[in-house]
Amino acid sequence: MKIKDKFEKAEFCPECGAPLVDNMSCWEQLGGIISWEYDDPELLAEHFKTVACYNLQHPAQFTDEAIAGLKTALIEHLDKGLSVPDIRRRNSKSYEGNRRVLKDISKRCPVQRTWKMTISDVYIPHCPEKAAERVRQWAAAIREEL
Ligand SMILES: [Zn+2]
Repeated sequence: MKIKDKFEKAEFCPECGAPLVDNMSCWEQLGGIISWEYDDPELLAEHFKTVACYNLQHPAQFTDEAIAGLKTALIEHLDKGLSVPDIRRRNSKSYEGNRRVLKDISKRCPVQRTWKMTISDVYIPHCPEKAAERVRQWAAAIREEL
């Protein structure tokens, strides 16, 4: 058995509850999915969902207002087909004047929540096939729980 040292990463994410995958944290798994986008136009087309899902399951770094805006954007995108360019246009309007999106580090307070699907259901190492499909399922599962 491997001896754990105190610098080893937590086995489960303190925010979304996902397990490490190949010793990769959620953030690293997100990087893995994004690296697949280069070879997968279908996955690239779901980029907004990938990032929105990740951020909604890791809200501690964001202001409450930024998270509320992201929830609304994902809901309208999924339910009403609001396009990604329209979401961007709306965001650039509402963030005029550099309103803050990130909380001060001292005010971040991760709270673990249990979700039906997390990034570890989407990031399956060496299995980029059907990743776009998994991203859509992930978004739909989060949508139900918002
Ligand atoms: Zn996580």
